[in-house]
Amino acid sequence: MSFEFRPGLTIANGQLLSGTGRGTEVHAACFLPQRKVTLDTDLIERPRELRRIVAHEVFHFVWWRLGNPRREEWDSILTRERREGARGELGYSADVLKEGLKPADWKRLSLRWRHYRCESFCDSAAWFFCRGLHSEYTLAPRFRRRRQAFFESLLDGGPLSI
Ligand SMILES: [Zn+2]
Repeated sequence: MSFEFRPGLTIANGQLLSGTGRGTEVHAACFLPQRKVTLDTDLIERPRELRRIVAHEVFHFVWWRLGNPRREEWDSILTRERREGARGELGYSADVLKEGLKPADWKRLSLRWRHYRCESFCDSAAWFFCRGLHSEYTLAPRFRRRRQAFFESLLDGGPLSI
């Protein structure tokens, strides 16, 4: 897997851009088939945030190879949270997507739902490895504990494929 830093990262029309000022600002992007992660140079000055973002991006590769049984376990955690009215998330990426979900997305496992479950997995992994205070950690502690147990069990299962 390779990592590169580029300045002023944005996404416009599904394309990652650097230094154009167009589109939506992002900290990073990953390219799974190319096994590449691009990070914004601003993160070099913010080592704690860099660690969190790198963990998030690396877990995109873990999710890619995770397999259905573990993915379904993750689904059931999220479905249970929804049933119990859990608000908030453990990162901005998941939070924005969760806010945009409609009841039909949960029911039909829509593309939007699948995007959300992947981002919530990556944000939760980053939280698991970089706990502490962060303004993006808004999920209530009782729901965090279930996610924590999931990641503990995942790591107990041996090395993860990336
Ligand atoms: Zn992500």
